Amino acid sequence: MLNKYLLYLLSKKKLCGNILRNKIRDANSDCLLCKQSKALKTNSHIIPGFMTKSILGNTNKKRVYLLGTDRMHKSAEYSQDTDKEDYILCTSCEKYLSILETYIANRLHDRLWNIRYESQFPTYSNGEIKWRVCEQIDESIFRLFFYSIIWRCHIASTEVCKNFKLIEEEAESIRVPLLACKYDKHADFIANLPAYVDEIPIFPFIIFTAENFGDRTKNIISPNSSTRNPYEFIFNEYVLYFSFTNNEKQNEFQFLNNTDNSKIKIGFFSYKFWETLRKQHMDFFVDVTKKNLKKRGEIPWGFKHDE
Ligand SMILES: [Zn+2]
Repeated sequence: MLNKYLLYLLSKKKLCGNILRNKIRDANSDCLLCKQSKALKTNSHIIPGFMTKSILGNTNKKRVYLLGTDRMHKSAEYSQDTDKEDYILCTSCEKYLSILETYIANRLHDRLWNIRYESQFPTYSNGEIKWRVCEQIDESIFRLFFYSIIWRCHIASTEVCKNFKLIEEEAESIRVPLLACKYDKHADFIANLPAYVDEIPIFPFIIFTAENFGDRTKNIISPNSSTRNPYEFIFNEYVLYFSFTNNEKQNEFQFLNNTDNSKIKIGFFSYKFWETLRKQHMDFFVDVTKKNLKKRGEIPWGFKHDE
């Protein structure tokens, strides 16, 4: 049932509409999170480095390719790191977000696939679907962390994120509680969090990953706003379906939907299922790209012999 629904969602994706671009920012711009201090930080990762590291590969020749359904008539661009942006955050807000990142990197990412920490993630199965429960991870910090990435994808004007936009009220409904919980020292953040937990809204989300991945450099990073509520995010080894509303589509995820303040559940799917999803994404990408090229009267760059 769930597998079918995921594939259904993918098949229903449409092209994004017109998106407002962020204006050029500089050291005089205000921090987009606190809106008080100057956004002096440069090279802020939009999606934290630990989540995107494996897509770059293990060799010295680190590359991540930029694919866009509207740019396949041009040669493929690549970079040696994933998206970063200057002048979006002040020093203090950047420190705060890095506290969330360090917590999740240590408690989730470094442990989820490590057999030594198996007992921290009890595994359940209904025969078809397997999932794990993050017993040792604070559910509020888990939420704040993923809210912060969704918000960063919204504010970013990088190539990967420029077409992704939340509705402005949705973005504020993340930014405000994110800021309310802000401390830029780890100990202060942990000590004060209980006082602010009630201010963190419980937006329903499902998150899943795979037991193993094969070649991780084939993975995808894609915030996608062509389906709203749920929004779909693919962050290399994690896929997130997230809604600001309580809606039928999100409810289709049933028991995997994280709808309250209990411990977070993570779908832990088979390699085979992961491969099927990856293929579905690429097929969809090729399909939309073909339509765009036809509309523009262009041919794919790889077919051009005179460039
Ligand atoms: Zn700030």
